[in-house]
Amino acid sequence: MRKKIAILGSTGSIGTQTLDVIARHADRFSVVSLAAGSRIATLVEQSKRFDPAIVSCARQSDIAALRAQLPHSTRVLAGAEGLLAVAAESGADVVVAATDGAVSFDAVFAAVERGIRIAVANKELIVAAGELFVAAARRSGAEIVPVDSEHSALFQCLAGEPGDRIGTLVLTASGGPFWDWDRARIANASLEDALRHPTWQMGTKNTVDSASLMNKGLEVIEASRLFGVPGDRIEVLVHRTSVAHGFVVFSDGNVKAQLASPDMRLPIGYALAYPDRLDGRVRISALEALGAKADDALARLEFRPPDLERFPCLGLAYAALRRGGVAPAVLSAANEIAVDAFVRGEIRFGAIPDIVAAALDAAPDEPLSLVSVRAADGHARELARSAVEARSMAQAK
Ligand code: MG
Repeated sequence: MRKKIAILGSTGSIGTQTLDVIARHADRFSVVSLAAGSRIATLVEQSKRFDPAIVSCARQSDIAALRAQLPHSTRVLAGAEGLLAVAAESGADVVVAATDGAVSFDAVFAAVERGIRIAVANKELIVAAGELFVAAARRSGAEIVPVDSEHSALFQCLAGEPGDRIGTLVLTASGGPFWDWDRARIANASLEDALRHPTWQMGTKNTVDSASLMNKGLEVIEASRLFGVPGDRIEVLVHRTSVAHGFVVFSDGNVKAQLASPDMRLPIGYALAYPDRLDGRVRISALEALGAKADDALARLEFRPPDLERFPCLGLAYAALRRGGVAPAVLSAANEIAVDAFVRGEIRFGAIPDIVAAALDAAPDEPLSLVSVRAADGHARELARSAVEARSMAQAK
């Protein structure tokens, strides 16, 4: 029996790499449903290749075009209804949650409530609503397997270990393209600079977040939620070559690390196959497995602490985690707006942490629920948008 896979965000970076893994292991996996945003041509191509029963796009206006190009038997939907059908009505064994932002929260929750395994790559979901998400999974018995490389590393290190013997969780960070730049230079970095990521191939939002280290900040919150460890026991270490992805320091002082070549298809494959592992890389050498050439510096393991002065976004994420409640949702929402504005050339790179900090200052002290998360998310976006407008007006003068 092949495992049935649903993908939310099939045309994005994680979505396409998931399909790549599935194509290479067609004997083990089949695709039952796909949801994408507005890349309709890619969605059609994927549907023709993988033959899902349900396909969903963002806009109602794209439904006709999709129907015209897909077999009559394919159910074509759009918007929230489509996401819900793809996640919870497709009979999937595993839902790969790989959309950016908050768009598929309801769909993923519906799948979790049905006890379906979630391979989660949607950072914002865990950051904003992780406590609710983990609690819902506990109630239904749904497994949550992280796709993010660092969390996959921690998940693999923690397998078979007693949960009350975890000392510290360590996430590695490549440091991004600005790791050795001074603060003033970082503040004025261009989009092109920010997209020059040293090791990983990712979507635009993720790559910009990696340059500001907000990505690592969001991952610290994510790790706290997924593994139930408070922020003061989660460390970040800058490790330029992204060979070691995460490690766990146990209560007895022993340290377990996970190493692999920086290729997202590895954690994706792990999440799909778990608790089994994929095969096909049995005969590669150790250095090959680390993505290193024999005499390459990649084989070196170097770690240093991050500089919070130059990368204030990481400190903001720790502050949001300490505050708890809706603060992480506010951090994530304001950051999304600020990054989007930076990508469109409306603000400087250095304005991103300022906008996020202001939104965080204004975050309400509400008890956590999906309703309060959504309200705080909306409010933070509004605040961040007006901060962007004020800044772009000032910049234009
Ligand atoms: Mg990561």
